[in-house]
Amino acid sequence: MPLLFDHSKLSRSAVDFIEEANIDELLENTKFDLGRFAEVLAKSRSKEPLSPAEAAVLIAGAETQSEAIFETARALKREVYGNRIVIFAPLYVGNLCQNDCKYCAFRRSNAAEVRHTLSDEQLEAEVRAMLRQGHKRTIIVFGEHRKYNPQYIADCVRKIYAIREGNGNIRRINVNAAPMDHEGFRIIHEAGIGTYQVFQETYHKPTYAKMHPAGTEKGDFMWRLDSLSRAYEAGADDVGLGALFGLSDWRYEVLGLVAHAQHLMKHYGCGPHTISFPRIQPAAGTDLSWAHTFSDHVFKCLVAILRLSVPYTGLICTARESAEVRREVMNFGVSQIDAGTRIDIGGYSQLGETQVSEKEQFHIGDTRTLDDIMRELLEDGFIPSFCTACYRKGRTGQQFMEFAIPGFIHKMCTPNALTTLQEYLSDYASERTRAAGQDAIARELGKIAPSAQKDELIHRLDLIEHTSQRDLYF
Ligand code: SAM
Ligand code: SF4
Repeated sequence: MPLLFDHSKLSRSAVDFIEEANIDELLENTKFDLGRFAEVLAKSRSKEPLSPAEAAVLIAGAETQSEAIFETARALKREVYGNRIVIFAPLYVGNLCQNDCKYCAFRRSNAAEVRHTLSDEQLEAEVRAMLRQGHKRTIIVFGEHRKYNPQYIADCVRKIYAIREGNGNIRRINVNAAPMDHEGFRIIHEAGIGTYQVFQETYHKPTYAKMHPAGTEKGDFMWRLDSLSRAYEAGADDVGLGALFGLSDWRYEVLGLVAHAQHLMKHYGCGPHTISFPRIQPAAGTDLSWAHTFSDHVFKCLVAILRLSVPYTGLICTARESAEVRREVMNFGVSQIDAGTRIDIGGYSQLGETQVSEKEQFHIGDTRTLDDIMRELLEDGFIPSFCTACYRKGRTGQQFMEFAIPGFIHKMCTPNALTTLQEYLSDYASERTRAAGQDAIARELGKIAPSAQKDELIHRLDLIEHTSQRDLYF
């Protein structure tokens, strides 16, 4: 079967780093050894990224040493991210798709799927509905189809940024769409996107071939594997990787993600901004009886091992997972979650109606409102943040790492988290959530030592609470 993409357009770093990492051999030959295990934990604790071989040591210890893994991940998360959790919501723009991924309801052979792309008016209605909930950050999601070309995606981004509703606007738009060539990535970069995200789905090549038929765009493993490298070469500030857990052995995917992060770091001086680890979910019209499902305990282990392997990479746990699982993994790894999520096309502007499952890609596990999730986070001692300052101040990519490493992040992220939280409390929160939020802000202020910046922060919080001034950030 001829390839659909021209491989002379791959990146300059296009090597098969999965082959190089030799994952099968690592999984087979890495036996548990307490001394080596303790060494690797100590390395993670000093916030150094792990190699696939080192991550394999943690995997070998997962069965008997999970508490030690959780405990170290908890400490690392607290140090690097504090108690902030970044909040976003996905926006599904269209579900036309030329591919035939075995696990996805949008695949072209799923005749039961109702196909729809938001019109300009519907896109605007969706964004307004998200803004009325209180959202400031979104990721726009597309099937893979010639209609959703880079120019189309860039136009959507510009339209969304231009919308104002009450005191709110979307301040960061990330994109999850099919891999592009350099020119395509340049076009979406110029529209001002935040992170370009694409999931490899599975790093295990034989499984990849089974899931993505040859002759479809997605059937080209290397084109996809190389896409984030092309994105960096085309100027992308931040990129996000991910694997769809359940297609193959979870251990293989963890090592694939770690190898991918290491490859980006080696060639572009900067690892991924985020990693996602969705678990496969039931999807309408889709037989998933073949999926490699695993327990919530194993899921928690894999999140903690990722946390320890890539200390400065944000970890995203989506609403595919239940409220209970999300609540736990936030303690030892996850730094970003979506909330108030609707993944049916047009779902936000139809809030209150039942989910239109024929237009949704899979079923979600956490269907609570944004307000309910905000309140739970606040009551659990977290600070939910809608902050978008780093990307707007140019603190992205390598610069973000430079800021993160010496602990600058606490100086900027906590104040910015608090001002965006105050915006939410003043403009959108229910009474109970507002009370929990004001308590949390007072508690956090109490932890900050007196300084000119603290005075300025207090002044800004006051302005947001008592005037219509918004979007004040360091
Ligand atoms: N079409 C683009 C692609 O395939 O990269 C991007 C959008 S796709 C709608 C977003 C992600 O949803 C996919 O990368 C896949 O990992 C995930 N997904 C697909 N089917 C799923 C299922 N049944 N359960 C959970 N996640 C699923
Ligand atoms: Fe299409 Fe993406 Fe679904 Fe595959 S995962 S069928 S490419 S929408």
